[in-house]
Amino acid sequence: MRSASQTIQKVSVHGGHSGQFCLHAKNNLEEVIEAYIAAGFSWVGITEHMPPLSDNHRYPDEAEQGITSVALQEQFSRYFSECRALQQKYADKLKIFTAFETETYPGSVAYVRKLIKATKPDYIVGSVHHVGGIGIDVNPQLYARAAMESGDLEQLYCNYFDAQLTMLGELEPAVVGHFDLIRIFDSNYLQTLQLHSVWARVERNLELIAELDLILDFNLRGFDKTLEQYPSLPVLKKAIELGIAIVPGDDSHGVSSVGRNYDKGIALLADLGHNCQWRQPRLIKDDKYHQGG
Ligand SMILES: [Zn+2]
Ligand SMILES: [Zn+2]
Repeated sequence: MRSASQTIQKVSVHGGHSGQFCLHAKNNLEEVIEAYIAAGFSWVGITEHMPPLSDNHRYPDEAEQGITSVALQEQFSRYFSECRALQQKYADKLKIFTAFETETYPGSVAYVRKLIKATKPDYIVGSVHHVGGIGIDVNPQLYARAAMESGDLEQLYCNYFDAQLTMLGELEPAVVGHFDLIRIFDSNYLQTLQLHSVWARVERNLELIAELDLILDFNLRGFDKTLEQYPSLPVLKKAIELGIAIVPGDDSHGVSSVGRNYDKGIALLADLGHNCQWRQPRLIKDDKYHQGG
């Protein structure tokens, strides 16, 4: 009998952040890609963060170090050239997609469209890391501030899922990144998710994902930062029920997080009855929606 690890492909639909192109990641991109090859991956999407629209949209660490948005935008162009070159260099060893992960804040949709035109990525990961202009996954203090400015925690979740809905409708990203990241610093997230206003939005967004036939990032980094993967178990069960394509993303930020938590995550999915046959992301070049714009 073959064991599950022999029959289930190792893939990552979201990850490959590297210290070369991202201040909060480690190693250079080639080292990260070599780590994926060494770990036996079949295909990976390299999905570096998009650059900030302006200096006001920088991550706190970028602002503290005085790196301008213009410098980050230039770095992003270099990321694309480098990733495309590595995609070719390692073509016989690993299928690589050159992609990027979005931000979501006022003005981001038009900016993402511009970046798509300029860089021609294979696909994008649609993510929300900000609510009301405040980064919600940076630290508990900023998270608490975002909740306060939203009114309360319940409204923070609602605002997050509303921003996600708009982004999904506007951009139709091939992959939806860490669906319920908003629970990151909420220790009672299972209760918060159950609030009527919140759960109605979770279901509504999942229904749109199903309708648009987007891939849900089964984000393994959740095990490092919180108790479990994104999306959390109740959301995951609902997504499976809706027939949404679920694909692992290690959300690696350097060599040490390549493939981290893979076996743990896959065991969980298999327990839930998932067949663990991974769909590859729809490519923008094959996508009528993105061709027109
Ligand atoms: Zn990151
Ligand atoms: Zn992210």
